Amino acid sequence: MIKIKCQICNSEIEDTTTCPVCGAEIEHNNNEEEQYPWLLIYTTNTLMNAEMFKVNLESAGIPVQILSQFDSPHQLTVGNLAIVKIYVPSIYETDAREIIEQIESGNSMNDNEV
Ligand SMILES: [Zn+2]
Repeated sequence: MIKIKCQICNSEIEDTTTCPVCGAEIEHNNNEEEQYPWLLIYTTNTLMNAEMFKVNLESAGIPVQILSQFDSPHQLTVGNLAIVKIYVPSIYETDAREIIEQIESGNSMNDNEV
């Protein structure tokens, strides 16, 4: 039996849906990463740029989610509306920012230099 901790009363309890100590509903997090909120780490206005950041972050072992606001094909060419948001789990914030800084400082023609 897996022991978990009740978020409300902090009692160590068996894996269940309701805490036997305080009666609170237990939230289940199967995926460890989902215990952490996704943090907006970077915004850019091209999907290509975002993909480049994603590849670099993922190669460092950081999960990445990209949210683009291209909800209409007509917005594709409208620069200011074409915002791509890059999210990482908040626990990776420091690492992700370092990588992004590295990419930005070395943002030249040397694409494959890491
Ligand atoms: Zn409890």
